[in-house]
Amino acid sequence: MSEMAPHNLECPNCGNKQETMVWNSINVTLDPELKRTLLEAKINLFSCEKCGENSFTDTPLLYHDMAQQFCVQSYPVEAIEDVEFLRRFSRDGSVVITGIPAGIKESGAYITCPHIVFDINEMLRYVRFRDRISESTREIASKKIRSVPPTRRSRKR
Ligand SMILES: [Zn+2]
Repeated sequence: MSEMAPHNLECPNCGNKQETMVWNSINVTLDPELKRTLLEAKINLFSCEKCGENSFTDTPLLYHDMAQQFCVQSYPVEAIEDVEFLRRFSRDGSVVITGIPAGIKESGAYITCPHIVFDINEMLRYVRFRDRISESTREIASKKIRSVPPTRRSRKR
């Protein structure tokens, strides 16, 4: 499920504070149109009513792809220095979840191991990377019979 909430954000240009609706999590399997918005870099944009500044909000965003079974979670880069924030993770980088909600075990362990990024561009790159993997494995599967092993080609030289 995708979730949106109001945040009181400060304009990085003029300091004006205004309430902005921000996506906290997007489920691109249930809401594919949000994936398009993200890939067009139009998600969680702050548009200042005073000075017209447009910028990405650095509020945390969870990207959840149920079909390909992966999550990407973005955090503001300052979080790296926040001890309270770091306590949310195990030494292996996975998320410490207390009181695991019922259904997580059935839906997959990948939910507790989101790929962590610290800005929206990193998120976009990682999503493209995973989409390309899924496309190329589909291509390989469909071309399997015709494919020639690379060793045979190199022997001709
Ligand atoms: Zn402003």
